[in-house]
Amino acid sequence: MKLVFLGPPGAGKGTIAAKAKEYYSIPHISTGDLFRSAIANETELGKQVKAILAAGDLVPDSITIAMVKERLAKDDAKKGFILDGFPRTVAQAEALEKMSKLDAVVNFVLDEDIVVRRLSGRRMCKSTGRIYHIETLPPKVEGIDDETGEPLIQRPDDMPEAITNRLKVYEKSTEPLIGFYRAKGLLRDIDASTTPDEVMASMVRALRK
Ligand code: AMP
Repeated sequence: MKLVFLGPPGAGKGTIAAKAKEYYSIPHISTGDLFRSAIANETELGKQVKAILAAGDLVPDSITIAMVKERLAKDDAKKGFILDGFPRTVAQAEALEKMSKLDAVVNFVLDEDIVVRRLSGRRMCKSTGRIYHIETLPPKVEGIDDETGEPLIQRPDDMPEAITNRLKVYEKSTEPLIGFYRAKGLLRDIDASTTPDEVMASMVRALRK
């Protein structure tokens, strides 16, 4: 199964991808995670993109496309993948068409006020990327990752100014992809306002059709 997860930041793409990865036995490829790990490891790529991520802007297409191309060429992505956070521009979508043939594009639909609430309450384990929410998906002990015991962090781009910018960037650059993929008959709209288990179940149903 070759899937793209589309939707505004905070729609729950990463949370559902973690479930779908197990369910379909395919890798979860998050361009945001790849950039964050490059930043954490202080690689050349990490240094190039650190300020861009902190501001909530988009990394240039050429850098992002090259990174995804390299990742999709790995053996584990041959039988399928979940692309989470890529493509984010029409140029990226066109480049992806040359790399692989998709089965479906899941469009996570969510109102903007819920997006803002989700992003500002989001917390993350820095080393594993596991996602929590202070109200809806809290860790067992406040501020601590359930598995590693490490303190949870708030992503720099989940701060208020960066959230506003990311939503603007989404509307301008990424939303046009909804029409792009709908015209190709690949789009599956999913209501992302319910619980992760419900969202997962409705996505599995939609993908069976
Ligand atoms: P995410 O974790 O998907 O919200 O991504 C975090 C940040 O990584 C974004 O705000 C961008 O700065 C960068 N990023 C992730 N994916 C892409 C992409 N496909 N194109 C450009 N920038 C990206």
